[in-house]
Amino acid sequence: MKFIKCLGSGSSGNCFILDNKLILDAGLSFKKIKDGISYDNLANIEACLVTHCHGDHSKSVHKLASYQTKIYGTKGTNDALKFDLHEYIQKNFIDMTYYQLYETESYYIIAFEAVHDCIEPSGFLIQEKSTGEVLLFATDTAVIKAKAKRIDFMLVEANYRDAELFKNYESGIIDKARLTRVMDTHLSFEGLQKYLRVARTPHLKKIMLMHLSNENSNEREFVEELENEFFIDTIGMAKNKIVRLGRDW
Ligand SMILES: [Zn+2]
Ligand SMILES: [Zn+2]
Repeated sequence: MKFIKCLGSGSSGNCFILDNKLILDAGLSFKKIKDGISYDNLANIEACLVTHCHGDHSKSVHKLASYQTKIYGTKGTNDALKFDLHEYIQKNFIDMTYYQLYETESYYIIAFEAVHDCIEPSGFLIQEKSTGEVLLFATDTAVIKAKAKRIDFMLVEANYRDAELFKNYESGIIDKARLTRVMDTHLSFEGLQKYLRVARTPHLKKIMLMHLSNENSNEREFVEELENEFFIDTIGMAKNKIVRLGRDW
């Protein structure tokens, strides 16, 4: 794996490009996604993986599918996205079952369960065939359920810090419903720390934080605290950031 390009992260839209071959969520306009792929070349894209049906992750899957990009999502996700599309476009949606192995030309892909307020949300474990390197992609989930013997790179949500969220609730910036929704459907910084303590493997080289909340998180603090505890290069993802992964970039 060579690089990940962030085209958008957070509630305004999420989309990442892995090695110009995989689109990870498509929550931006089709134009922005096309412009973000080098050489304006959609033909090199092997697949678009979509974690769940919310618009900030799936906005352009219809358009991508109509340009013959294969859309990989759980059956629940795909059904919610493709129901009103022409059959010709629907056939580009690949229905995934949790924990089963799928493959594209360059990758093996497994979808695992996420905990979010929609039907069959998922995260993904993506293994590059040529190097064996594994990327964990997990967002919009109250907990990360993925287990793997090898994880080299993590692209993960760190939506809020518990204390920050409660402070904002107590001062009236967010209401009770929002507080409950965030806690039940998104990953906290503390949740990520817990996951890293049990699930990190010696292969882990990079942690990329995404879907950071504007009000309830602090990117600089998150990066610093994770680096101090785990000694792993950690980066907050933002629009147009390109993160180098492998050595032969
Ligand atoms: Zn969502
Ligand atoms: Zn989201």
